[in-house]
Amino acid sequence: MPPKPAPVCGQHRQHFRITQSQQPAALARAFADDTAVLIQSWKRDRLLLFSIFALFEKVSRLSLNFKKTIAIPLWTEDPQAIQARLAEEPGEPQITWASSGKYLGVHVGPGKGTRSREKPARKFEKRLEEWPWAELGLHAAISIYNTFVLSVLLFVGQVETPPDFVLRLEARAVRRIAHGPGNWCSPRDLHHARDLGQSINLRLLAVPCKAAMLRLREQEATGAGIRWRHLERALTHTKGSTMHLHGLVDWKPWFDARLPTVVETLHFNSASQGISRSRAVREVAGAPIGPLSRDNLAKFRRGYQAWCCKALLRAERFDPATRIRQRTARWRFLALPGHAAPRIARHLRRLRSLVPARARAAMLSTIFNRWTTDTRRSLRAGRNRCAFGCTCPLSDRVEHYLRCPGFRARAARRLQLRPPPATRLDEWMIASRGMGDMQLRQTAVAVYVLHRTVNHLRRASPLDDASEEYERHFMNQMLHEAARSDSRLREALRAAQVPGGRAPAKRRRSS
Ligand SMILES: [Zn+2]
Repeated sequence: MPPKPAPVCGQHRQHFRITQSQQPAALARAFADDTAVLIQSWKRDRLLLFSIFALFEKVSRLSLNFKKTIAIPLWTEDPQAIQARLAEEPGEPQITWASSGKYLGVHVGPGKGTRSREKPARKFEKRLEEWPWAELGLHAAISIYNTFVLSVLLFVGQVETPPDFVLRLEARAVRRIAHGPGNWCSPRDLHHARDLGQSINLRLLAVPCKAAMLRLREQEATGAGIRWRHLERALTHTKGSTMHLHGLVDWKPWFDARLPTVVETLHFNSASQGISRSRAVREVAGAPIGPLSRDNLAKFRRGYQAWCCKALLRAERFDPATRIRQRTARWRFLALPGHAAPRIARHLRRLRSLVPARARAAMLSTIFNRWTTDTRRSLRAGRNRCAFGCTCPLSDRVEHYLRCPGFRARAARRLQLRPPPATRLDEWMIASRGMGDMQLRQTAVAVYVLHRTVNHLRRASPLDDASEEYERHFMNQMLHEAARSDSRLREALRAAQVPGGRAPAKRRRSS
């Protein structure tokens, strides 16, 4: 009978050295009070192993918790059958037998399946439920999702590739947080939102997971001296030469997902995309070829994972101009589509240093036709009327609002805001040639005020204050919001003599 290896997950780090010295053939690993031991033969080595734990208990007064100790058989006998058989034998340690066990937050063993992901996935869904996505702006929604929601899936992602059910959860979550009319944007647009003028990208689960694995590969190779390639080849050789064909079939998912294989495949694929250690050393540590100095090594370790994230995203080759061309096909620009789309992409990126995130989000929502209007919802009759009271039919639509005489009159009379001319759709969509910084600012602010005011008026109930004074106050407030926390924009608005740029206290005194 071949030796039967069996990993045992137990407790207490101090066991580690004793086990290693008493059983050199065993592989023991420990962190804090969690110990994992792999022994060659359960039949032969178990008594010695448990006598070590007994000895350790006598000298330290720290005992092994048998209830929490899990033995995972690496042979094909059913763990429940082993449990039942050993329960009747006196003198056998009454520990739990299972096809997998949890060690340091991750499930290990042939029967682990996707168990490591189940608890984080439940937590992910719970956190998703806790936020009012429909009330959040695009920028806030992305920030919250990255920080509080997606982060719960990242710990396990360091050592396991996300399974399909988690990727499906992620896709559903993205559609939910970026609410709006169907297909106003694709998840890919949000994962590259910075290229579309936004402040941050929506994190794509696969990217930080891959980056963490590349960091793990690098860190463990230099720190723990793991030779990943040799390990992977040895495992492949063992798998190819084993006589346990039954186990090979039953445990195929486990073999396929083993960490050395996953890490080496990822490393190979990344290298083919130009994501290599030598390039990272050059770009992160700024170091010349040769051994790294201590400072440069520390700098490299700190920045390697973030660099991998950026490099992996770049490798996706997202072209904002192509995407904008697809999304703006419905707008009738004066400029040729081949000119308008790259210009919009350039202007969106330029706006990053000119207006706050909320104004840029409104700009993108307008260009990508995200507005929830009756026309967008295909309502042809009934309420499909302009929120500013225009009487023309089917006027609850973006094309109308950008030309709406009601809004223009209010903007000019009450705010002295200068939206682009009604006939210049190209300017509204920042597709015009030669738009300077001030013009881009004015347009983005006008689009933000218009978008927020239309949303507000569309949702206002008959009981809400609909007076002109209230409407003026609301629009003024939106103008302030567009420039809030951005002193440079306030200065620019002040210079253009727009009342929204003035300090509220000063305005009150003048009125
Ligand atoms: Zn109108």
